[in-house]
Amino acid sequence: MTTLRDKTPGFGVYLHWPFCAAKCPYCDFNSHVRHQPVDQTRFAAAFRREIATMRERSGPREVTSIFLGGGTPSLMEPATVGALLDAVAEHWTVPNGIEVTLEANPSSVEADRFRGYRAAGVNRVSLGVQALNDQDLRFLGRLHNVAEALKAIELARETFPRLSFDLIYARPGQSVDAWSAELDRAIGLAADHLSLYQLTIEEGTRFQLLYDAGKLSMPDSDHAALLYEITQDVTAARGLPAYEISNHARPGAESRHNLVYWRYGEYVGVGPGAHGRFIENGRRNVTFTEKMPETWLDRVETHGHGVIGGEVLTREEEADEFLIMGLRLTEGIDLTRYEALAGHPLPLRRITELQDEGLVEPVGNTRLRATPRGMIVLDAVVADLARE
Ligand code: SF4
Repeated sequence: MTTLRDKTPGFGVYLHWPFCAAKCPYCDFNSHVRHQPVDQTRFAAAFRREIATMRERSGPREVTSIFLGGGTPSLMEPATVGALLDAVAEHWTVPNGIEVTLEANPSSVEADRFRGYRAAGVNRVSLGVQALNDQDLRFLGRLHNVAEALKAIELARETFPRLSFDLIYARPGQSVDAWSAELDRAIGLAADHLSLYQLTIEEGTRFQLLYDAGKLSMPDSDHAALLYEITQDVTAARGLPAYEISNHARPGAESRHNLVYWRYGEYVGVGPGAHGRFIENGRRNVTFTEKMPETWLDRVETHGHGVIGGEVLTREEEADEFLIMGLRLTEGIDLTRYEALAGHPLPLRRITELQDEGLVEPVGNTRLRATPRGMIVLDAVVADLARE
């Protein structure tokens, strides 16, 4: 198990399974609903080919974590998950016991596959619970109810060494008391990790249409900020403090894979719509693949990969990304690493200004982090620090 004291950024492998049973009205992820069965054997073969191509590009590496995300990876048969994990292990070095996470929805059909996933090598599951009351689950367009979610949590706890689940808060009409009680109940369910996201209106979603038509009224920013503060207080008091703006864990149970992103490590992204960032020929490359699953499949079968774009980042771009990702963490960023990436230090004057406003604070001599107040306006803090 990782700890925040081990700050090696790592090398992760992200595998994107792009299919869902239904499209949730708030979701802007690359997820697609298919009314015919998906040919999982053919997709698994395409994942294997794209993994081989990525291995050629990345060179030999030791993998520190694997993440099966989506979409809904728990729509995969356990044999498909096994085939993907085997392909990763055949192309890179995968030490025993590294974190292997699978995102799952808590419907009973998917829970039935948990033991198969465990046998295939998954040791951590991240459940999309989203709410602990049926009315809000219906509002969020989820296909499960609370009873199913509770059963799935129980089964996941029995099956996997590690468990996380997601909740969405700042839902329309949600009071501070209602959210505190729901959060308290969630913590009592003994996950070692919680991802707690505020509901936001994303472009291209059904909620955006409703919102634009005046049919969905969202909490105002003051109420949302209050709910955020309550979230920090309740989780800290119950032993799962925030280690990232939306992620909370018992010490030692932080997501090793997500820390790769936030600590600006390297990762390859495989599957439709997956992004990667890894060092190739001494420079950090961005890759992204075709989003439409069937088009991705054709491309992989023809060219050996579905990569349709990417770029080599400049030092300045790398330093900006490092800042954007690292300031999400409560451990903050290493200022010497920023300087090494950017070729110059962060301007002291700007740090001092933001410190005077109570938005950032030093951690020891070499680190800087956002304060709880700074986290609420993090985009503005990052923009201020990165400004020429
Ligand atoms: S299940 Fe997840 S990925 Fe699929 S549509 Fe809903 S929120 Fe998006």
